[in-house]
Amino acid sequence: MDRLGAALLGCAMAAPAMAHGEQEALKSVAEFFKRATVVAGPTAVDCTLSSGTKTRCFSITVKPEPGSYTPGPWCPMQGTDGPDRSGIWLKDGQVLDADGAFMGGLAQRYQDPNWKMVDPKTGKINVTDSREACAAAARPDVDPKYRNYCVQCLPEYLEADHQTYVIPLEPQAPGRQNDVRQSGAGVAFNGVRLDGPAPVEAILGAYTIAPFDDCGGHVNLHAGYHYHAVTDCLNKSAPAATHGAQIGMALDGHTIFAQLAADGQAPADLDRCNGHSVQGLGYHYHAGAPGGNSILACLSAEAGCALEGDAQTCDASQVRRPPPPGGGPAPR
Ligand SMILES: [Zn+2]
Ligand SMILES: [Zn+2]
Repeated sequence: MDRLGAALLGCAMAAPAMAHGEQEALKSVAEFFKRATVVAGPTAVDCTLSSGTKTRCFSITVKPEPGSYTPGPWCPMQGTDGPDRSGIWLKDGQVLDADGAFMGGLAQRYQDPNWKMVDPKTGKINVTDSREACAAAARPDVDPKYRNYCVQCLPEYLEADHQTYVIPLEPQAPGRQNDVRQSGAGVAFNGVRLDGPAPVEAILGAYTIAPFDDCGGHVNLHAGYHYHAVTDCLNKSAPAATHGAQIGMALDGHTIFAQLAADGQAPADLDRCNGHSVQGLGYHYHAGAPGGNSILACLSAEAGCALEGDAQTCDASQVRRPPPPGGGPAPR
């Protein structure tokens, strides 16, 4: 039986069909996020989307803790540390091991002799080792004393340990494309944020490297642990469907699948936001290649909200990240 049929049969007497439809939709949302560390929800709420459309959203509050693995490692401590003791870096579409050898080879790789990440005498790598150091080195205008540091923030540095996502139950106003650099792309099935691109140019410009772990994630003090790449690590643990692994939910309410569909191929007909329509499935996205620093290039419909803590009120038409001091990109 289809959803409308079930709604008509099930609650013709008890509740309006609309409310019943919401209950059904919330059930599938809860099912989709069953592997996330859920603090509250999902519940149905009123919301205002990025272009001002007022509609109904689901709201879910989650901890950015993947559950199926422990995040990290990120920075190698020594020039001799291999890839098992460090994470990855993304360059020119490639996923590189951010190991000791990588850190020692930065001057050559980026053709700039100012890179001196590994101490030539001790073989030691400078790594941020406190909340204060992570805050100073990860902000957009990097404190110059952290030049030539490998920057990592640890999950235990976080104050707010959860995030609330408010996402339309039905995608609204397709065609109003949204920049994911402001809002992020969405949320993974495990409750971890799928972010917009990491500001790699700003990171490199300050002679820092802020590696991602092998699952494509790292920590900042705002979003906590979050992804900039969808790697096999995430694909393997995601719920499988006939079209491929379902990685997460975009902020506009469309589903995000793995880069490769179930047949092992990347769909050839993706639009500029990495989306396409398939019969029986409707419109959805596929995550970008892991080396591309772009999980989604844009959102095809109006975005809901990714909120810090347990704030519930979503007015995405008002979401404008203030420019950081001295200009430059938004926080990593
Ligand atoms: Zn597809
Ligand atoms: Zn980041």
